Amino acid sequence: MSTYRDLALPRALGARAAATPGGSARATVLRTVSARERRSHLTAPRVPTVGIDIGGTKVMAGVVDADGRILEQIKTETPDKSKSAKVVEDTITELVLDLSDRHDVHAVGIGAAGWVDADRSRVLFAPHLAWRNEPLRDSLQARLAVPVMVDNDANTAAWAEWRFGAGRGEDHLVMITLGTGIGGAILEDGQVKRGKYGVAGEFGHMQVVPGGHRCPCGNRGCWEQYSSGNALVREARELAAADSPVAYNIIERVKGSVGDITGPLITELAREGDAMCIELFQDIGQWLGVGIANLAAALDPSCFVVGGGVSAADDLLIGPAREAFRRHLTGRGYRPEARIARAQLGPEAGMVGAADLARLVARRFRRANRRRLERYEKYERYAQAIRNGGVTGRSTRPPQEP
Ligand SMILES: [Zn+2]
Repeated sequence: MSTYRDLALPRALGARAAATPGGSARATVLRTVSARERRSHLTAPRVPTVGIDIGGTKVMAGVVDADGRILEQIKTETPDKSKSAKVVEDTITELVLDLSDRHDVHAVGIGAAGWVDADRSRVLFAPHLAWRNEPLRDSLQARLAVPVMVDNDANTAAWAEWRFGAGRGEDHLVMITLGTGIGGAILEDGQVKRGKYGVAGEFGHMQVVPGGHRCPCGNRGCWEQYSSGNALVREARELAAADSPVAYNIIERVKGSVGDITGPLITELAREGDAMCIELFQDIGQWLGVGIANLAAALDPSCFVVGGGVSAADDLLIGPAREAFRRHLTGRGYRPEARIARAQLGPEAGMVGAADLARLVARRFRRANRRRLERYEKYERYAQAIRNGGVTGRSTRPPQEP
């Protein structure tokens, strides 16, 4: 990273270009930037890699091949917030070692719910974990002895949807993950846009209602206070606690204990046709559409992919979101409208994306080694056939000697 940045300075560039007569400045930059930084998903080695998704409750790990297929998947509980950073590293290491018993591990990608710096080496802050400015990449790389990639979980999920899911073929994509809060990511021309300090895409804390609901971030009226799993549950519990007649059905389902009302229960009831639950989804769907219209004004992507647990409600949520989006889009009627699609990869998206991003830093030499081995075996078979006198005129050229 630093090499590239230094080179990007015009003065350094000029000096280099002058030192290499006949070579353009661009060629000089390309030559000097390391292969790892130039690598894109098109040139990354097609090796299986391990993806790890560290969420608030579960750590999911899986071996994923170059086509996004999960070859094996395991999971464990997320260590408690009170545990030290080392305990989280131990958990990750154990999962990787477990998988490496049965698979070749060429690289490890980590999608963490938290802020990751622009170099993607440190986790600046993670709300569910003890990480504070934690040099996660380097410590894990030292322990696992394979290349490690660290990114924000919304970025890895967006990457997966762009490579293998609802956003395939889109060169301007914005992902919105509706979980307990709102996560987000921006992808442009096959690259995740992370911002200068690595924390772009925190759409959940855009203010949509001045002086609105208090948000744990410290501000009021954040988008995720109106359009998220927490918003859904908060509204349902409020209605149930007030003993509203519209909430009788849900009160009966939880046998009066309002604290037992959860997002999945509201989704289930809405699917069964419960009027209050459907209305709650319409509410958060509308707020979703309003926020998406704001994002379209700022970023103008061709596609919004909506993922996360709340998106399981599908058209109950996306339908109202599309309507509100059309009503609030600036310049409506005079501009092409972005597509709003539901994510396709489900809860594994973050893990699959982390694994695929890890392929960008995966080691190539193992593949070269394997090829050398394959060539050797082929040559051995050929030599064996000659020794047995079984080579006929049809097999023309002997395999290349390893
Ligand atoms: Zn907030």
